[in-house]
Amino acid sequence: MKKERPHRGKGSASQQPPAHADPEIFESDLGFDQLGLPEHVLRGIRDLGFEKPTLIQGRLIPAAMAGRDVLGQAKTGTGKTAAFGLPLLARCDPSVPFQALILAPTRELAVQIADEITELGRHGRVTVDTVMGGERIKTQASRLKKGANIIVGTPGRVMDMAQRGLYHFDNVRFTVLDEVDRMLDIGFREDIRKILNNCPKDRQTMFVSATIAGEIEKLARTFMRDPEKIVTSGASLTVNLVEQHYLAVNPWDKKKLLLHLLTHEEPAMTIVFCRLKKNVDMLAKYLGEKGIDVHAIHGDMRQGKRNRVIQQLREGELTVLIASDLASRGIDAEGVSHVINYDLPEDPDLYVHRIGRTARAGRRGIAWSFVTSAQGNLLTNIEELINREIPKMDYPDFIPGPRPESWRDESPGGIVFPTGPEAPKVNRYDAAVNPDMPAVAAGPIDSARFPGGNVPTRMPPKRMMGRIPSNRR
Ligand code: ADP
Repeated sequence: MKKERPHRGKGSASQQPPAHADPEIFESDLGFDQLGLPEHVLRGIRDLGFEKPTLIQGRLIPAAMAGRDVLGQAKTGTGKTAAFGLPLLARCDPSVPFQALILAPTRELAVQIADEITELGRHGRVTVDTVMGGERIKTQASRLKKGANIIVGTPGRVMDMAQRGLYHFDNVRFTVLDEVDRMLDIGFREDIRKILNNCPKDRQTMFVSATIAGEIEKLARTFMRDPEKIVTSGASLTVNLVEQHYLAVNPWDKKKLLLHLLTHEEPAMTIVFCRLKKNVDMLAKYLGEKGIDVHAIHGDMRQGKRNRVIQQLREGELTVLIASDLASRGIDAEGVSHVINYDLPEDPDLYVHRIGRTARAGRRGIAWSFVTSAQGNLLTNIEELINREIPKMDYPDFIPGPRPESWRDESPGGIVFPTGPEAPKVNRYDAAVNPDMPAVAAGPIDSARFPGGNVPTRMPPKRMMGRIPSNRR
């Protein structure tokens, strides 16, 4: 039996009607019928109730329909999936198996993409399937014999099945990397390189994300042919519809403050992000003991449980989800009213993705970030990235506690990266693997050591049989 929702009420984002007229997100002059899409695809769009294309759809779809490679940057929740999915539905030949390959960083996101494209393609004959960890290879292989036209997968399993000879990439005419910056970072890069190098050279390539730093763009371009760059994020990387605040808090008060907010502010559906899996478990236990209807998700949980939690989130059936960054990218659940950064993310880009779980498709949302006194610079780095000041939120009814005698300070979270023209270059890797080293090390990033300038922030996990399991979340 479903638990009662103890705190539904104020600030329910899902109660807001989608703002189809919001010029920050939607095209004002263009209709879907002007983008070159065939009638069977337009019918799918109408069925889903999309009235106007979003900005990224209005610009990416015509370029993709004309056969161009595209590198698209658009804010979270502005319909990037349909932007690359609709041209695939229009251009794939239903009689040719495995013609399009879409890669995503998490299994949950791969499933979501496959579901949305399947929905949009319901009036055509193009079929979609998934290839990803967490399910038996044999099961996936026998399903693939049906000859799906579009495969959505996570890089490790896609590579693995190809190496076992279960399929080949010879028919691939379209490749897509969703969350391209994550896909090209150090954990996935080698698999991606191998997969793309195995696909025919004359394919069409589409890469999208909400955050694409300069170095990633440089690297991305090496896999593309004269791509059209489409940026619709405007002055700030985050949508205006998400109301952002930070809360200054002592590290020892964070748990109590979270409980206070959840019980006093009564958010409708909240995702609380932690940096560490052990914090996810600890918080879920703590809040559960306080009577909150709480769920958790992180990469060490069984896939079946992960799937169930995401499904409940999508269906609006849970109240508070404590999550690792497994859930920070791509996940689309319309009822998420609040995102709370319990721990500020190590990487400022992740802030953009985390808070992008709310305020999607023209709805409103609220993002609160806990900031301890040691994390001021981290907050500034986030503000510089999103090009927006995050105001402080006061909560006078919460009484901070004294520092417990047994309290031991944790690291503030992330390495503090100085920014601006005067800032020395940070060797993030050395600083990350050796906490005793000062965060600011002299000298520029060594591009020979870190191709593309994309410097890992964590120690690489131990290699097992030439694969890096821990990055396939
Ligand atoms: P992104 O990848 O940019 O974060 P998604 O592709 O997940 O965003 O889309 C966010 C939500 O918006 C999804 O629920 C999707 O079905 C919906 N959506 C996409 N395009 C439109 C549109 N043109 N009008 C209304 N809703 C849309």
